[in-house]
Amino acid sequence: MKAPAFDYARPTTFDEAFALLARHGDDARIIAGGQTLLATLNMRLSEPRVLVDLKDIRGLRGISLQRGHVRIGALTRHSEIEDSALVARHVPLLARAAPHVAHRAIRNRGTLGGSLAYADPAAEWPACALALDATILLKGAGGERRVKASDFFLDLYTTALRPGEVLTACEFPLSSSTVRVHFNELVRRHGDYAIVGVAARVDIAEGVIRHPRLAFMGTGTVPMLATATAASLEGASLNDLNEALGQATQRLREELQPIADLYNTAPTKQHLACVLLRRAVTDLCRSAEGVCHE
Ligand SMILES: Cc1cc2nc3c(=O)[nH]c(=O)nc-3n(C[C@H](O)[C@H](O)[C@H](O)COP(=O)(O)OP(=O)(O)OC[C@H]3O[C@@H](n4cnc5c(N)ncnc54)[C@H](O)[C@@H]3O)c2cc1C
Repeated sequence: MKAPAFDYARPTTFDEAFALLARHGDDARIIAGGQTLLATLNMRLSEPRVLVDLKDIRGLRGISLQRGHVRIGALTRHSEIEDSALVARHVPLLARAAPHVAHRAIRNRGTLGGSLAYADPAAEWPACALALDATILLKGAGGERRVKASDFFLDLYTTALRPGEVLTACEFPLSSSTVRVHFNELVRRHGDYAIVGVAARVDIAEGVIRHPRLAFMGTGTVPMLATATAASLEGASLNDLNEALGQATQRLREELQPIADLYNTAPTKQHLACVLLRRAVTDLCRSAEGVCHE
């Protein structure tokens, strides 16, 4: 199918963009990499009259090291994150997750901001943002807002973005010598959206797990931070991990209420999430000291 006819605007300033979005309301749609939006237009799932392309607005693209965090502009492409030495060094979870985002051709056009704004519950970046406790920057005619990733994903394809607002950047806290990260997902073919996936970060110091954060994707209407599961791992010793792993798996079964998709039942997803949890914790511990008992 072909997309319906639409106008195309390419503002060069935020004020111009906000004016266009205000003037056209629901009939306007922001376009970034177009890798999701154009498919929905072609399938006539969405029929906006005007596409507002943000490409010519300065400051929306790029990766920079700032005090305490790495800032990634909304229009930064997935492949730029994948190839960034700065990301690999300071936000290694993103480097691990990047190759799982679709295929390279799509990663060459799709953007971080587009993925976060679209908020597919099976997408990689939203789960990473949750696991890393990232901050999402939003800008509208009324000014700028900073929203924690944990407050951003509200429901299926629904975020804290208000009408007329633009997602401008995301800030990811810097890694440190005690931080360990893990990313894994189960897919039918590489590049598909995850059936179930996990993004995890922990501190491991003196053989003890601290501050674990586990975000699951593909399990519900939003990416999910498994807080009770993570709490059960807090303080666990790497030398005596079996009991903590057993408790964490039990917590995850209680905490995660997966929704079936077209191919996988809810119990299948729950089972797969528990498998991923065990693999994640085992890998995190191994990477810390090579001392971990399954
Ligand atoms: C075959 C295929 C496979 C894919 N597989 C995966 C996958 O495995 N994992 C994955 O995560 N993604 C996958 N994707 C989606 C891809 O990653 C997209 O790039 C991404 O979801 C959207 O980014 P985009 O820049 O293309 O956004 P667009 O398609 O341009 O926009 C998507 C939505 O976000 C809004 N939007 C975009 N930017 C902003 C902004 N800065 N502020 C406010 N709203 C904004 C748009 O209005 C639109 O509603 C796949 C896509 C295809 C075609």
